Amino acid sequence: MATASVDRAKQRESVGYQNAAALFRALGHPVRLEIVALLGHGEACVCHLQAALKRRQPYISQQLMALRDAGLVIDRRDGAMVYYRLAAENTQMLLEWVQAEMRRQGRTPPREMDPEALVEGCPCPRCSPC
Ligand SMILES: [Zn+2]
Repeated sequence: MATASVDRAKQRESVGYQNAAALFRALGHPVRLEIVALLGHGEACVCHLQAALKRRQPYISQQLMALRDAGLVIDRRDGAMVYYRLAAENTQMLLEWVQAEMRRQGRTPPREMDPEALVEGCPCPRCSPC
């Protein structure tokens, strides 16, 4: 019986780490990290992410769902447009850490996102104001 209660205690302790691992799994994808980097500069619609990352809408939506299920992004509908933003501003700090760590290891860091960059061919209000 003592062994069983030790096992239960260990299980309880590891739940937090399992939660943490699930969060890292959601982030452990190059396109999802790129989405987080883009959203680090503010809200963006799906069409903007699609144009900026040169990926098809279903693919972008799939990655956004994974980030949303992990609680990392929040969506907002405005008419026909769906906008996404980071749920917590400090998610961006993780990317700053990744940049620094890649440099420390002498490896290519993720490219820095230009918050002012307009995406050619993007129909979103930011890139194509009327
Ligand atoms: Zn755009």
